[in-house]
Amino acid sequence: MKIMKFGGSSLADAGRISSALDIVAANSRAERVCVVCSAMRGVTDGLFDAASQAAAGFETFADPTQAIRTRHLEAVKELCAGDDELERGVAGLCDELDELLHGVHLVRECTMRTMDLIAGYGERLSTTIIAAAMRRRGLPARYLDAREIIRTDADHGGAAVDFLSSYELIQALLDGDDLPVVTGFIAATAAGVTTTLGRNGSDYTASIIGAGVEASAIEIWADVDGVYSADPRLVPEAFVLPEISYQEAMELSYFGAKVIHPYTMVPAVEKGIPLRIRSTLTPELAGTLIASHTSSRAFVTGIASIENVALINVEGGGMVGSPGIAGRIFTALAAARINIIMISQASSEHSICFVIPDGDAMRAVRVLEAELSPELHQKKVQRFVAERDLEIVAVIGENMRGKPGVSGRLFQALGEAATNILAIAQGSSEMNISFVVHRCDRERTLNAVHDAFFGGMA
Ligand code: ASP
Ligand code: MG
Repeated sequence: MKIMKFGGSSLADAGRISSALDIVAANSRAERVCVVCSAMRGVTDGLFDAASQAAAGFETFADPTQAIRTRHLEAVKELCAGDDELERGVAGLCDELDELLHGVHLVRECTMRTMDLIAGYGERLSTTIIAAAMRRRGLPARYLDAREIIRTDADHGGAAVDFLSSYELIQALLDGDDLPVVTGFIAATAAGVTTTLGRNGSDYTASIIGAGVEASAIEIWADVDGVYSADPRLVPEAFVLPEISYQEAMELSYFGAKVIHPYTMVPAVEKGIPLRIRSTLTPELAGTLIASHTSSRAFVTGIASIENVALINVEGGGMVGSPGIAGRIFTALAAARINIIMISQASSEHSICFVIPDGDAMRAVRVLEAELSPELHQKKVQRFVAERDLEIVAVIGENMRGKPGVSGRLFQALGEAATNILAIAQGSSEMNISFVVHRCDRERTLNAVHDAFFGGMA
C-alpha cells in the first residue's frame, strides 16, 4: 500500500481537488492507496481566528466560519452536484462548529482542548467531501476519521503519539481492499478526546499510517516541485534535489526549508519507508525522494537558513575555567521558555555565544542580567547586548563527514563574498556547518555558498 497525503494548497478549491483526484485515480490502478487530507488552504487558520475572536467576546467570530461554510458548500456543488446527503453532512458539520464557537463566545475562553476540537473541523470537512468525490468517480473510497486510528496523550495543541496502540488500530482499520481517505492532523486520546498533532501535522499523520501498514512509500503532495538545494526565492540557481537522506531532510527542514514537518521523518525512518515530495501542479515530475541511502556523492546537499534570530555573546575574564556559568545561562533561558537555536564556545572559554529567536531577544537579556547579576557586579562578566536582525545559514550534507576541505571551500566563498561571520558552529555529526550573518548579507551569502558547491549544476 502507498500513502498519498495532499496538503491544503493542493486542496484549495474544487479545481485543485479535481487534479488531486486525477492523481489518486491514476495511482490506484497500480497499487492499493490510502489518501490523507489536510484542510482546504487557509481553513485551519480561519478556525484559529474564529476561536480567538469568540474567546475575546467578538461577534465577528462568525465571519470566518461563514466563509468556511460557503467554501465547502461550493466545493460540494462543483464536485458532487446533486449529492444532497453530502450537502447535509457538510452543513451539519458547519452547524456543530457554529455551536461550539457560540459556546466559546458565551464563556469567553477557549482551552487548548476545545481549540483542538475546533481546529479539527477543517480536516473533517475536506476529507468528507474528497471521499464522496472519489466515490462519484467510481473509486472505492471510505472516509476514515483519524481519531479512530491515532492514539495520543492529552498534550493538546501537539500531542505525543502512542505508536504501539496506533499501529494496532491502523492495521485493524486499514485492512481490506478499499481506498481509505483519512483526516490528517487530528487524533484522539484513549478516552476519545480529540487532539491534534500540531500545526502542519498532516504529514505526520501520513507517516504514522505509513509505518503502521509498512507502506511501500509515503508521498507528500504539495505545491512545490520538491526539496530545493536552497530557497529558490533567494537563490535563482537553486534546483530540486532528486534524492536526499532522512538525516539531511531533517536538517534541512529544521533550518527553514519548510517542505516537511520535522516529526514526519521519525516513523518513516524507523520502518525504512521512502518518502517522496511531489507537486500536484507538476505531477509529471518525480519530486524529491527521501530515503535511508542516496546515491549522491556531492559533499553538500543543501543550504538552508533561519531568519529573524538574535545573538547574545556573554564574555568575560571571570568565565575562564569556572564551571557552572554555561549551565546557569541555559537553565535560566530554559526556565523562561526561550529556545536556543545555536551555541558556540571557543576553547579559550572567554566567551560563549548563542542564538535565539529575535522576538525573545530583549527578554533573554533581562533574564540573563538577573541570573548573572553577581558576575556582572564583580566584573567577571562584561555587559552584554543582543545583536539583532541576523540570520543563521546552514550548509548540510551527509557526505561532508570525514571529508577535509569542505569548510575550506565554504569559508573561501564567504571571504570572496566579503561576508562578515558573527559565529560558527559545527555539530560533531559533521553533517551541518552553521554560521551567523547579518540579515543584509543573506542573499549575497546564500548565492555565494550555493555557487561554491553547486556552481554549474543547475
Ligand atoms: N490543517 C492543519 C494546519 O494547517 C494541518 C496540515 O495542514 O497539515 O496546520
Ligand atoms: Mg496546512
